[in-house]
Amino acid sequence: AQMRDDQIKKTKTVCTYCGVGCSFNVWTKGRDILKMSPTEEAPANGIASCVKGKFGYGHVNSDKRLTRPLIREGDHFKEVEWEEALHYVAEKFKEIKEKNGPDALGFIASSKATNEESYLLQKLARQVIGTNNVDNCSRYCQSPATKGLFRTVGYGGDAGSMKDIEHADLVMLVGTNTADAHPVLASKIKRSHKLFGQKLIVADLRKHEMAQRADMFLHPNPGTDLVWLSALSKFIIDQGWHDKEFIDEKVNDFDEFYQSLAPFTMEYAEEKTGISQEHLKAVAENIHRAGSTVICWAMGVTQHQIGSDTSTAISNLLLVTGNYGKPGAGAYPLRGHNNVQGASDFGSMPNTFPGYQSVEDEEIRAKFEKAWKTELPKDVGMNNHEMVEEIHEGNLKGLYVTGEDMGIVDSNINYVTDAFEKLEFFVVQDLFLTKTAEYADVVLPAVPSVEKEGTFTNTERRIQRIYQALEPLGEARPDWEIYSGIAEKLGFNWNYQSPADIMDEAASLTPLIAGVSYDRLEGFNSLQWPVQEDGTDTPLLYTDGFHFDDGKARFYPLQYEYNYPAQKGYDYHVNNGRVLEHFHEGNMTSHTRGIRNKIPEPFFEVSEKMAKELDIEEGALIKLSNDNGESTGRVHVTKEVFDKELFITLNSDGKNAVNYLTSSRVDKDTDTPAYKEVPAKVEVLEKK
Ligand code: SF4
Repeated sequence: AQMRDDQIKKTKTVCTYCGVGCSFNVWTKGRDILKMSPTEEAPANGIASCVKGKFGYGHVNSDKRLTRPLIREGDHFKEVEWEEALHYVAEKFKEIKEKNGPDALGFIASSKATNEESYLLQKLARQVIGTNNVDNCSRYCQSPATKGLFRTVGYGGDAGSMKDIEHADLVMLVGTNTADAHPVLASKIKRSHKLFGQKLIVADLRKHEMAQRADMFLHPNPGTDLVWLSALSKFIIDQGWHDKEFIDEKVNDFDEFYQSLAPFTMEYAEEKTGISQEHLKAVAENIHRAGSTVICWAMGVTQHQIGSDTSTAISNLLLVTGNYGKPGAGAYPLRGHNNVQGASDFGSMPNTFPGYQSVEDEEIRAKFEKAWKTELPKDVGMNNHEMVEEIHEGNLKGLYVTGEDMGIVDSNINYVTDAFEKLEFFVVQDLFLTKTAEYADVVLPAVPSVEKEGTFTNTERRIQRIYQALEPLGEARPDWEIYSGIAEKLGFNWNYQSPADIMDEAASLTPLIAGVSYDRLEGFNSLQWPVQEDGTDTPLLYTDGFHFDDGKARFYPLQYEYNYPAQKGYDYHVNNGRVLEHFHEGNMTSHTRGIRNKIPEPFFEVSEKMAKELDIEEGALIKLSNDNGESTGRVHVTKEVFDKELFITLNSDGKNAVNYLTSSRVDKDTDTPAYKEVPAKVEVLEKK
């Protein structure tokens, strides 16, 4: 072993931090990670990478890693053997199921874990327990985007590849801070814009880096994107600039849609959004002149009460202008976590088996029942949001959360942690003793991406393999082994030798990924779904029609029924999002010293105007509060935010986090929390 430890080893891996899906070689010696080296062969990034992918691996060998299972004993945890932990979990699950039925248990998958692990968690919930109460973190971010695409074009994924974004004539970024959240993709857009004359239009509350670089910047009032997007559709049709041939041949419901656009005049749009008519007309002209347009969007759109409708408005606009099914065009919801696309694709969803096959469809259910040799639950299960509600109602008794620090990242976390305290039995599986884990009855130590095998699916539907570079630390285990262990204790011997077996089973049951196998994904090879049985994949969707029975897309009429949840006395609007250096709340990135030292805590961006009004300076300490809670932080005065709109970074120091302020309001169609609708008041604690 000593000899082996001295050798330098090179292993292919995929970044664990965002949906761009950069792949690298990781160089290790013993347990040390020497470097991440990008390579030309990497399909999504080539030789590019960002600070997180290159340097953010402090979490792997952190002395804070959990290395043994823990069971609660009064107010502390004791370390136990795996055997005891798995037995205990199985017994408690069995007890709750017998007493309250299978739907008294809920399961939350990790969007950082692998596809195979998402597949197994939903199998554990459905086959072993008998419930469809299984969901993943796309509920917190991307479900509205997926909904908008299901309504209009049929597949819940990016229309093409990142190459299409690079090669579009016009790129519109709506509610995405791409430079911080998807850095390598942002670099591609920056290059196309700077060197190849690509037009760039950015709509956002903040004038962030991409907005500063843009040819046009739109600053709409919070929650009004649906209005200006729909007004563009109407204006373009009224000018006769719509793609009539495309619509006639390929899209249903045009007349009904056009009628629904009647209220969205330019005057109305200006009044609601605060964007001038001239500005909006110029955007329409740009789209009209462009041979191909791509629209990318992210949480700035989805995390609203009308996130699904706004995502739909984006897709409607692309249909109006014929921007689907050709290179350089289409809808690109930018997936946040490294595997948020895959977690949903592989079935950790309350309404669908892997590949978006409905649990309510008898034929599909029969297929899975045959394969899994069990009767499966018929009704749609609870999503994340409903699980928390049902814990409060006393109907959900047991919860199993893997790899999500819900106590920091859920909306309205005081309400969420209150729910944790009401649980009869709570299992948390993670790398660290997170805030969420502190409420658990059992904590199971999992491993990071470099200590296991599997696949991730990036934002462009690209499935890529990760290879094991290091042995699991201590007694920690890959999630798939832990799920298998629990299933076995409950009488189901799955008998998977490796994640390749799991993928084979998933592929055999899922038309979307029918031709996916580890052989075809060897090394830096990758496949973009849908993948035919013969291994043919689909970099660009909709070239042969849309994903509906008649092959035609659908316009989806919308109304704008929305009121900003203003509360008396709470005059400030709190926006939030990522910083480049941290992944989300920082559970992993905070363990890299350089990153932690640079950005140890969340900070609050305030406008120059606001700083002047409150008589505060850079570094001042302020407290934000509303009915949900409060959060305190240091001020960064910047030109990037305007007036009374603040921005809080998502990373948390454990004590302060934006989600003490966010509410339980949700998108009306998907229950995604309206993280971006936060009124608050400000108290100055130190002027500096
Ligand atoms: Fe690439 Fe995203 Fe990882 Fe940065 S965080 S290296 S952009 S996958």
